[in-house]
Amino acid sequence: MRYAETGFNLEIDLSQGSIRRVATDVTLTKRHLGGQGTAAKILWDNVPPEIEPFSPDNLLIFSSGLLNGTPVPGANRTSVSTFSPLTNLYVNSLMGGWFGPELKYAGYDKIIIRGTSPGLVYLYINNDKVEIRDASHLQGKGCQETAALLQQELKDPKIQVAAIGLAGENKVLMATIDHANSSASRHGVGAVMGSKRLKAIAVRGTNDLYVSSPAELWDMCKNKYQEIYDNKNCGDPMAHDHNEGFHVDNFAWGNARTRRQGYWNKEREGKWVSKWKQVRTRDSGCYNCPKDCHYSISYPGRHKYFLKCFSKLTYCMAAFEEIDFNYDILGVTSAYGLDGFSTPQVLAFAVELYEAGILTDKDLPDFPSDGAGRFFYLVEKIVRREGIGDVLANGVYAAARQIGNGAEAFDHNTTKKVEQVPLKLGVINYPFYLMYCTGEKMNITQIEGSFPQAPIADPEKRKAFVENWDAAPEKFKKWYLEWEPRQHMPIEASVNVCDWNEAMHYIDDAIGTCAWLSSFRGQFGGSPPYHLFNLPEFISLASGLDLDLEELLEISRRNRNLIRSLNIRRGLRRIDEKPPEDHWKKRDPEMEQKHLDAYYEFKGWTNDAIPTKETLDGLGLDYVSNDFITRGILTGTEVTLTKEDSDGKIGAPKSEGC
Ligand code: SF4
Repeated sequence: MRYAETGFNLEIDLSQGSIRRVATDVTLTKRHLGGQGTAAKILWDNVPPEIEPFSPDNLLIFSSGLLNGTPVPGANRTSVSTFSPLTNLYVNSLMGGWFGPELKYAGYDKIIIRGTSPGLVYLYINNDKVEIRDASHLQGKGCQETAALLQQELKDPKIQVAAIGLAGENKVLMATIDHANSSASRHGVGAVMGSKRLKAIAVRGTNDLYVSSPAELWDMCKNKYQEIYDNKNCGDPMAHDHNEGFHVDNFAWGNARTRRQGYWNKEREGKWVSKWKQVRTRDSGCYNCPKDCHYSISYPGRHKYFLKCFSKLTYCMAAFEEIDFNYDILGVTSAYGLDGFSTPQVLAFAVELYEAGILTDKDLPDFPSDGAGRFFYLVEKIVRREGIGDVLANGVYAAARQIGNGAEAFDHNTTKKVEQVPLKLGVINYPFYLMYCTGEKMNITQIEGSFPQAPIADPEKRKAFVENWDAAPEKFKKWYLEWEPRQHMPIEASVNVCDWNEAMHYIDDAIGTCAWLSSFRGQFGGSPPYHLFNLPEFISLASGLDLDLEELLEISRRNRNLIRSLNIRRGLRRIDEKPPEDHWKKRDPEMEQKHLDAYYEFKGWTNDAIPTKETLDGLGLDYVSNDFITRGILTGTEVTLTKEDSDGKIGAPKSEGC
C-alpha cells in the first residue's frame, strides 16, 4: 500500500501519441519525497545537458507535492519542472489552486510530457481514461476562456484545467501556464508547453487517496486548519491590505530605475480602494486552505481573471500609470498567459530603449506617446512575435543582446538571464546577496522568507519577537537578537540564514505546501503554520515514512544538491552567481566574495560552485559524482572542509535544525 501518493505517473509522448501509466519506485519517495524532488531525479536520468529546452526530448513535468490531496491544509502546490528556454537551466515553477490534488484523485502523482505533437492538442485525464485530443478549436483562445470552454465541452465544471494562451502558443519566453486562480509563471514554462503543441491539460479524479495514520493526521489537520484561519501571519497580505506604502517605497517596480518614495499617500489609497470595490467580484483560496489570497476581477471588456500577488502593482508602476490601468492590462495579459512579474519589466525596458533612441519609430511604427498606450501596443507585438515584438518576446537579457547598440546597459535587473525583483536599495543585505547569487529558482520571493529582512530597532520588541519565534532553531534567535540596525550579521550567520531559507523552500516544493503558510511567511511574526519542527510529523503521519528533523533536512539537502548538479551539468559556475549590478547602491566586492567563499564551503561545494564528490556521495548521489568525473567536471579529489578541519570556521550543518 502506498500512502499520500498514488504510486503511478503518467508518461505521455506527444510525438508518438502514446500514453503510459507507470508504477513508481517507492525508494525515490524515501530519497526525494515528491514534487520537484522526484521531478529533478527524472530530469537527471532522462534529459542530458545537450538537450535544448525546446527540443522534443526536453521533458515537461507536472508534479503533485507529496502531501497534496491528503487532509494537510494548504498542501496544494503543483510543480512544473523542465529546462527553461530563458536560462537553459533547470526551472521549477509552482502553481496553487486545485490541479495537484485533482491529479492525485485521478490516480497519478505526475504527468511527464515528452515529444512534440504535430498539431495543437489537449490532454484529457478522467481517472483511468486518458486521451490526447485535438485542440485546433482552442487555438488563440485565452487561458481562462480555454478552461471554461473545456469544462463546457467535457460537461463537468469540476474539471481542473491548466492552459496556455497565445503567448505560450507562440513560445514567448514570459509565457505562463494558467490554472484557476493561480499560474506557473516563471522562466517560460508556458513556452515549453507551447513548443510541445500542448494547449491544455484537463483533469478530473474521483479515486481515494490513502494516508498512513488517518485518525491522528485528521486530528492534527483539523487543529491546523483552524490555526491557519486565525493566523494573521500567513497567506498573501497584498490580497487584503490596501496600504501599499512599503512596497512602493522600497521597490522600483518594472524596469523603472528609481524608487518612487512618497508616491503612496492616503488620497491615492482611497482612489485605489474605490476602483478595487468596482472591479473585484469575489475572494478565492486554494484547495483545502482557509485563506483567500486571490480575488477575481471583472473589468469591462475583459475576460474575468484572478489577481495574483505582486501583479497588483507591477504594470501600473512600470508604466507610471494608476491602478485602473493595472486592472485593465491584466485582463489582456492574463488571457494571453504572460508572467505579471517579468512582462512589465520587458515592456518598460522597451520604452526606455525608445526614449534613449536605441529603438526608433522604424522599430515601433505608430508608437503611442502615453505609458498605457505603449504597454498595450507592445503586448500585442510580443504575443504575436511581430516585428520588434519577436525580439522582446525573448526577455530582457536576450533582447538587449539581440538589439545591441547600447541596449545591454538597460539590462540592469537580471540574474542568470531572468528578471529579478526590481529592488533598488541603499545598503547590501548579505543573506539576500547570497540568495540572489546562488538560488536555483532565481526568483527571490521563492527563496527568502524564514528569517526577517531587518532587525527590529527596539531591543525589547526584538526580544519579544524571538520569544514567540517557534519556527526558528536556537542559533538563529541568537543571531537575530545580536543584529543591530544598519549593521551586518557575521558571515557565518548570513550563510546559515541563506541555507535555512533554502531548506524550507526545498521541503515545501517536495511536499506541495504553500510558501505563504511556511517558507515565505516565517519572516513575518515568526509563526508560520508549518516549520522544521512540525513538518516531520505531518509527513510521517501522511506518508508512513517515519521521518525526523535530521532526515527531513537530509532529503532537502539531497534535492538541493541534485538540482544544483542539473545546472552544473548545463554549465552553471561561480561566475554566473551575481546579483544585478545596481541592486544596492553601496557594494563591497571583497566582502561579497568572502560571503560566497563561505557559502560554498558551508555547502560542501568547490570554490567554483560545484558539489564535491564527498558531498554528493554523502547524500547518496554517487551517480552524480560519477557523471561529473566522467565529464571532467570534477576530478573526485576536491576536498570539503568540515567544522573541525576549518578551525572554527563554517562547516557542514549537522544538527539543531539547519
Ligand atoms: S495561503 Fe493563499 S495562496 Fe496559499 S494555499 Fe492558502 S489561499 Fe492559496
